[in-house]
Amino acid sequence: MRSTPVIAIHGGAGTISAAALDAAAAEAYHEALRAIVQAGQSLLLKGGSALDAVCLAVEMLEDCPLFNAGHGAVFTASETHELDAAVMNGADLRAGAVAGVSHVRRPVRAARAVMEDGAHVLLAGAGAEAFARQRGLEMVEPAYFSTEARRAQLHRAQAAGRVVLDHDGAASAATATAATTTLPGAPLDEGRKFGTVGAVALDLQGHLAAATSTGGMTNKRVGRVGDSPLIGAGTYADDQRAAVSCTGSGEMFIRVAAAYDVCARMRYAGESLAQATQAVVMQSLPAIGGSGGLIAVDRAGNVCMPFNTEGMYRGHARGNEAPQTAIHR
Ligand code: ASP
Repeated sequence: MRSTPVIAIHGGAGTISAAALDAAAAEAYHEALRAIVQAGQSLLLKGGSALDAVCLAVEMLEDCPLFNAGHGAVFTASETHELDAAVMNGADLRAGAVAGVSHVRRPVRAARAVMEDGAHVLLAGAGAEAFARQRGLEMVEPAYFSTEARRAQLHRAQAAGRVVLDHDGAASAATATAATTTLPGAPLDEGRKFGTVGAVALDLQGHLAAATSTGGMTNKRVGRVGDSPLIGAGTYADDQRAAVSCTGSGEMFIRVAAAYDVCARMRYAGESLAQATQAVVMQSLPAIGGSGGLIAVDRAGNVCMPFNTEGMYRGHARGNEAPQTAIHR
């Protein structure tokens, strides 16, 4: 089967910042999103696999300082970093993930190595790091992930007694100002944004794949694992239905099995991708206080990127059409 290749990426969902109207600053985000979509797009147009495309895009997002997976990841309550990532191949439902790693430079590569090894789906903590080291992946000191902006964000969250960030869009001017001093001009409030990145793709052969990578949530308890590395919660891909990567308040995404529920609704209820993603993001998640969004592509190449926050960094490209990027509604 020859499909028109499609790639979509996200760089986290959140609240619009005070600097949202700074067009020049926003352009830096659009430019980064465009470049990453383009890299995945050209790989797909050359016949590359959806799996390779989503891994490439997520690695680039991990490395890009504008997005907060990898370098610039958020801090736990103990001022440490614990990163999570997952990848899933829709053709054969193979999947791999790592949780709570703090020395693996690009967690998505470790997730892919777990998948390729095939013995397990999810490795956590020291065992995941030993495996990554054994596989020859690049290791770094945890300080590599630290930025002063993220440390300040942790201290603000701790002062406010928040275990997770509040993304209801009611940011006070004071909060917005404090947060945006961390990354001047960020269109989404850095103090109130989910830092996860992700990608979904459909390749020329009609195969789907999804990948997600995150630092988790600021001030999370040590040992907390979010939805991103949990197959079916934050990440899922099935060639028969869709590829999905989520961003948001992970606990709620876990409780509604968000990524798998998109595919399940399509499979068992005959819903379209648009209906299924709307139901999950606009009904199931808000019903239990969940905020965030997701990106999804189905086997026909339809793309849906709903979010129930004020914005979500996102971009996509179909065939050789010019990439489209967006931040706000
Ligand atoms: N979903 C992620 C988590 O709960 C956070 C995010 O999307 O930024 O770990």
